[in-house]
Amino acid sequence: MTTTPTTRPELQDIPTGAFIAGEWRTLPRTFVVDTPYDSSDLAHVADCGPDEAREAIEAAVTAFATWKTDNFRRADIIARWADLIDANTERMARVMALEMGKPFTEAKGEVGGGVGYIRYYADAARHIAGERVPSRFAHKRGMTTSEAIGVVYAVTPWNFPMSMIARKAGPALAAGCTVVLKPAEQSPLTALLLAELWAQAGGPAGTLQVLPTNDPAAFSAPFFDDVRVRKVAFTGSTDVGRLLFRQAAPTLKKVSLELGGHAPSIVFADADLDLAVRESVISKFRNAGQTCISSNRFYVHESIADAFADAFARAASALKVGDPLDPGTEIGPLVDEQGHAKVSAHVEDAVSRGATAIAGGRSHGGRFYPPTVLSGVQPGTRMLHEETFGPVAPIVTFRTDDEAVALANDSEYGLAAYLYTRDLARAFRVSEALEYGIVGVNDGGPIGAAAQAPFGGFKNSGMGKEGGHWGLDEYLQTKYVSFGL
Ligand code: NAD
Repeated sequence: MTTTPTTRPELQDIPTGAFIAGEWRTLPRTFVVDTPYDSSDLAHVADCGPDEAREAIEAAVTAFATWKTDNFRRADIIARWADLIDANTERMARVMALEMGKPFTEAKGEVGGGVGYIRYYADAARHIAGERVPSRFAHKRGMTTSEAIGVVYAVTPWNFPMSMIARKAGPALAAGCTVVLKPAEQSPLTALLLAELWAQAGGPAGTLQVLPTNDPAAFSAPFFDDVRVRKVAFTGSTDVGRLLFRQAAPTLKKVSLELGGHAPSIVFADADLDLAVRESVISKFRNAGQTCISSNRFYVHESIADAFADAFARAASALKVGDPLDPGTEIGPLVDEQGHAKVSAHVEDAVSRGATAIAGGRSHGGRFYPPTVLSGVQPGTRMLHEETFGPVAPIVTFRTDDEAVALANDSEYGLAAYLYTRDLARAFRVSEALEYGIVGVNDGGPIGAAAQAPFGGFKNSGMGKEGGHWGLDEYLQTKYVSFGL
């Protein structure tokens, strides 16, 4: 194993090479991973190119021939992987805190959630089965089998460096696919640690490979050119998702896309205000707002808008901002300078159009931005239509339910939406009217991390689901076999 040339004690034993065909590889080309906390360098990581990509495809094709054949062996190895990750929770959470700034305590939660997905799919591997299909002829019998789709190219973002991998590699490996994973440039170390644990769990060479790169476009080209790569699983921005969808078309690869979001939260006049504030803090400020299902717009009934805004601003201001390695920290830095600049620009735009910052509103310097609540946000403000990806909550008032639903649906995205009400009929009516793949009713948190539930968006938020049997089906194809007796 290649380890990192770093003085950080937390990273001494974290791999920095590429994991190809069951072996650790050092490369002459490397790129620097820094820490958002103070922008200092953390590690020099292998910078894979098209040659390494082609090598990984060959290894994945070879491994697929045997990996796909034995569900029970797969289940055992995947379950061991989950146990090893579980046992390394703190180590992995520290790596995450360092490389992308997620607070340590929250990072431990992410590892726990990801382990939940992997355990779920280890179990699911034992249950993959077909069906009997009736025939109109007495001398015929029909059945289906569920077969692994083949080699998968998985591309993941930095904001959930562990769970986005778990949600893809878990079901793909369970289905019998082999996976080549390209982690985000900002967070390759968590992915490399996952590869190390896969090897320890007995994962055969070529079944899961992890190749970091600093040039994702050039690195990715061989996967799209090769007809033997049958599936692309992507989480990231809508723009890159569209690009990969186009590139997958000539060889008709199956594609699943978990893309951007712009979640509305509607707080009705009859809501339990304490609950609405508590859940909104979770849905807005988790991961400093760098979450695809993060509430990005708050529509609050005019009769309770002041009360909600005051309580929300107080709760936001009470969150502890600081070093992500400190177990007490609730808000860490934003991942990079571009992220920080976008958040600052969105707040400046809102204030210049008449909004008032009732919490935060001014950068803390470096990549830190404080939890911010803005009241009186005007139509046309950028953050009402673009993903801010930061700890900023704009509040807009409404009068009628229809108006609230229309405002909430006024988005190209359709990933997650939230509503707060004590009226069951209203909860049904509004959740049915919302054009979103995930709806939280009086629930701002757990919908993101339930291994048994379908996670995925409508409209420009993507296609396909992760989680539950839906997530496994993405990696299986159905064969119909007809027997003449
Ligand atoms: P991004 O699209 O810039 O990058 C995501 C991944 O795509 C990275 O691994 C990156 O290296 C890779 N990539 C970039 N250009 C590529 C190319 N030309 N070819 C191949 N790969 C390429 O997104 P990001 O900034 O890392 O992540 C934030 C975005 O992800 C947000 O829009 C967020 O909403 C979205 N996201 C969605 C979900 C979901 O489940 N729907 C979850 C998390 C994040």
